[in-house]
Amino acid sequence: MKKFRCPVCGFMGLAKKPYDSNLSGSGEICQCCGFQFGYDDQSSQARKRIQEFHDSYRIKWLFEGAKVFHPSSFPVEYIQKNSTRMTETQLIRQLNTIGFKHNVPNKKLMKTTMN
Ligand SMILES: [Zn+2]
Repeated sequence: MKKFRCPVCGFMGLAKKPYDSNLSGSGEICQCCGFQFGYDDQSSQARKRIQEFHDSYRIKWLFEGAKVFHPSSFPVEYIQKNSTRMTETQLIRQLNTIGFKHNVPNKKLMKTTMN
């Protein structure tokens, strides 16, 4: 089955295209970052606003420790042991695919957001 990439976290695991040509969201929730397309961003239809919304959601998600939203539907090898957080390697890989430069490894950030 064809998979689509999440524009927020870069996870290649969406079952549906996040937006159609009218920028209306699929309603799907990303199993990695928890963003719901067309719900979390329903107040904005303009492409630029959606982009900004993705950016701010991503920052918040990263700041909270990049926890995997639905770990049981996420590849287990990408999740840290005894945690729901994504491994740093996978996080960097995913963010690179969407052209986002995250200052990882940011041990300080990772530590301060530990449970
Ligand atoms: Zn995502």
